[in-house]
Amino acid sequence: MSGVKLFDTFSENPTYARCEKKRLGLYLHIPFCRSKCAYCDFYSMVPQNDELIERYVNALITHMQSYRQGTKEYYVDTVFIGGGTPTCLPTEQLIRLIRAVRKNFTVVKDAEFTVEANPATVDTPMLNRLRRAGVNRLSMGLQSANNEELAALSRIHRRQDFAESFRAARRARIENINVDLMFGIPYQTRESLMKTLRYVVRLGPEHISLYDLILEPGTKLYAQRQNLPFPSEDEEADMYLAAVEFLAQNGYGQYEVSNFARPGYMCHHNLKYWNCEEYLGLGVAAHSFFRGNRFAFIRHMDRYMNGLELPNSAIRLTEQNDTVSPRERLGEYIMLRFRLREGLNCRDFARLFGFSFEELYGRKMYPYVKNGFATYKDGVFALTPRGMFVSNYILSDILEFEDLGQLDIFNGTK
Ligand code: SF4
Repeated sequence: MSGVKLFDTFSENPTYARCEKKRLGLYLHIPFCRSKCAYCDFYSMVPQNDELIERYVNALITHMQSYRQGTKEYYVDTVFIGGGTPTCLPTEQLIRLIRAVRKNFTVVKDAEFTVEANPATVDTPMLNRLRRAGVNRLSMGLQSANNEELAALSRIHRRQDFAESFRAARRARIENINVDLMFGIPYQTRESLMKTLRYVVRLGPEHISLYDLILEPGTKLYAQRQNLPFPSEDEEADMYLAAVEFLAQNGYGQYEVSNFARPGYMCHHNLKYWNCEEYLGLGVAAHSFFRGNRFAFIRHMDRYMNGLELPNSAIRLTEQNDTVSPRERLGEYIMLRFRLREGLNCRDFARLFGFSFEELYGRKMYPYVKNGFATYKDGVFALTPRGMFVSNYILSDILEFEDLGQLDIFNGTK
């Protein structure tokens, strides 16, 4: 196994590098929301005034300018403005950010350009302006079409707000809409989830995401966990499998654990994360995988803004900066490939890492194949929907990193 060529980044590998200029995904983090949802542990806050918003937008523009030179050999083919709630910014500030993206990066003409929106924070004039500025995809956080469930999550919108926002987006001629949904919500039943899905499918978005609600310590929902009627794990499994089936019957193919799309509408930006491609995340608490390094900007508003306003200050903007070791890359690759329905192709794996996935992991994988949690066909292992529901368990079972120490390629790496 020794002497195997390990590429510094996936994009250096001929399998992935098919173009002269390198491709880059750009993410901008907007850390503001109208109010905090009960389950949320994202880095977001309720801004006390417009001055804070303006100051943050200025800092983010300075941040983009600082990467202008260093990204000259890239073209940006996906932009994602997320948060937080980008649409709780005044429209003018959002437009300033979009203009700064175009000014500081080479954005291709047909780039996928997504803005995340809370249904209570958009209207037709705003969406018209965003579309004219180049936004062609809207990601709307509905979570549930059941108002009792929405109240349990402390969402600020109700089903009617969503219906109006969705119609406003179509009026603004936004032709690619994602709707975020959740399962595992207090009070939710399989039937109420199916009602939500039927309602959403009738509206006809191009893309649907369905996430399992995770109870994060420190959130309001976590503190209330004993007093609220959460579905059991078996009920959740039932909901997930029923949803996957229903969405497939209605033209939304599953391409990732939590993501479903009509043909041609997979989210190209998120696919970069799962395909280990390069992306640059700017803004407070934003993460990147750029030039073979993973790094994150600090989770502290004042320090972030001060660091950009005072470029000669000693404030360190990154809080984590790691070169990805071959061992980490391998573990990450396996985890990410198994999130995707297309799964892990053993030939690609051998090309990238220089040894056989079947030889190393086959013994672990075959019982899952035999019991319907995974499939194996033409050299490709993939998880079935049943396997995806318990993917964390399966991955921790197969990824016994200690075994990898025996391989020469990991000698001398951490
Ligand atoms: S809108 Fe999103 S980011 Fe904001 S508090 Fe709710 S879940 Fe968190």
